[in-house]
Amino acid sequence: KAGEDLLTVTDLHVYYGNIAAVKGVSLSVKQGEIVTLIGSNGAGKSTTLRTISGLLRPRTGTVVFDGKSLVGIPGHKVVGHGICQSPEGRRIFPKMTVEENLELGAFLRNDKAGIAADKERVLDLFPRLKERIAQKAGTMSGGEQQMLAVGRALMGSPKLLLLDEPSMGLAPVLVDLIFDTIRTIRDQGTTVLVVEQNALAALRIGDYAYVLESGHLKQEGVARELLKDDSIVKAYLGG
Ligand code: ATP
Repeated sequence: KAGEDLLTVTDLHVYYGNIAAVKGVSLSVKQGEIVTLIGSNGAGKSTTLRTISGLLRPRTGTVVFDGKSLVGIPGHKVVGHGICQSPEGRRIFPKMTVEENLELGAFLRNDKAGIAADKERVLDLFPRLKERIAQKAGTMSGGEQQMLAVGRALMGSPKLLLLDEPSMGLAPVLVDLIFDTIRTIRDQGTTVLVVEQNALAALRIGDYAYVLESGHLKQEGVARELLKDDSIVKAYLGG
């Protein structure tokens, strides 16, 4: 159902102990879109994402996905509802092969044909992974490991793919490659929410964007329009 809200987050407050990291964030992600969440270090982007994926529990606020409330549902069960996250720092299993890492992404599924089809989809999206299918994941380059982390999340066949800083530590040419692929993933029908410090790359591929600052929502809008917005250019795009 293109154009309808797949995810709606309302007035989210998230704490680490007594410290508020997210202070009243509301956002929505429409079916079929790439939505990006940008902001500088410590703005609360990862905390927001980790709350959506059930790794953190909000103090108050609601997370509604595909018509169901997710608050209080633990991370491993959120996956079963159709949300898969590629975490910041990748967290691939270094001693396992590329193929074994991908298969782990499908751990909740038992539709063999669907899993095989998704593996083929991932290897078509990332031919580099196909060439390295039997290689131990820990011996791959940072960019290849990032591809694997995204591919592994796709193996859960998510309705919503969450990506936490896919550009982190990558050379510009690899950032372009990963972001082009994120766009292809969207074009194939998977909705994407991506957290990024690289505002330029994120706003270029995003359909809609939210800007977080110190745990608050500072601005939101059509991504391509924010690219031209003076205050965004000054604060996040290097003047
Ligand atoms: P970055 O890009 O640096 O990851 P971010 O926008 O994703 O930034 P968060 O990681 O969500 O920001 O952090 C938001 C705030 O919460 C920061 O002030 C951070 O220091 C704090 N914080 C994050 N994780 C923890 C934790 N485990 N314990 C205590 N405070 C934390």
